Amino acid sequence: MTPLFDAHCHYQDARLWTHRAEFVPRLASLGLRGAVVNGTRESDWPAVAEFCAAHLGMIPSFGLHPWFVRERSPAWRDALMQVLNDYPRSAVGEVGLDRWFEGHDLEDQRRVFAEELVIAAEVKRPVTIHCLRAWGTLQEMLRAGPAPPRGFLLHAYGGPMELVSEFARAGAFFSFSPYFLHERKGEQRRVFAEIPLERLLVETDAPDLWPPPERNAHPLSDEDGRPLNHPANLEVAYAGLAEIRGMPVETLAARVAENFQRLFCR
Ligand SMILES: [Zn+2]
Repeated sequence: MTPLFDAHCHYQDARLWTHRAEFVPRLASLGLRGAVVNGTRESDWPAVAEFCAAHLGMIPSFGLHPWFVRERSPAWRDALMQVLNDYPRSAVGEVGLDRWFEGHDLEDQRRVFAEELVIAAEVKRPVTIHCLRAWGTLQEMLRAGPAPPRGFLLHAYGGPMELVSEFARAGAFFSFSPYFLHERKGEQRRVFAEIPLERLLVETDAPDLWPPPERNAHPLSDEDGRPLNHPANLEVAYAGLAEIRGMPVETLAARVAENFQRLFCR
């Protein structure tokens, strides 16, 4: 079986709790060997730790997502240091910048993200970065440093091709989401056709960023009927990226496995 890796997900998310008994064995039967399970705020870090302790191959990751920076406690920095020290194999994430959502405060996000980059450099961990409509600011911050010395993931990379080589030189990997299989995401599919093979990763972001209905192999919704991205759609993302790259999925998966280990398992 081809070993698969989910470079970015939120399997600990409360919306997936009642589905755990179903999706965990389903992932195992697809060949999942590793996943990076991202926290988004202090209150969900214990759930990340608990999920990763209970399931093989799960790498916990801790950070403040830009949507939740304003919920942080005054002691968030010490709390982050503590949890990173408690879990020596953990990564930093999901962190970053987002100018897309209503009511965002980019200056505040930037202050928190800068501190998280300093922490990641101090504890020498890889970092998972969320960036929406803030590419210039991200570029500036990575230039000013410290860029993550262990490398970083630009998850569901939605930026332009022109920035790929500069980000790659700074240590970036780029993960492909099943969401990019939506018709309107042609530009991002073109970008992913050209990203260097040694920097490619694959993700679900489950339970968010589901594929279009015609590609959704594992439809799932919450109690109120809102769609969720089933973790097993990882196979949809691999198949979609293999098509875009014009290579057999096994060949792609072997490269992605190497890349995953290089970034998250050193
Ligand atoms: Zn995410």
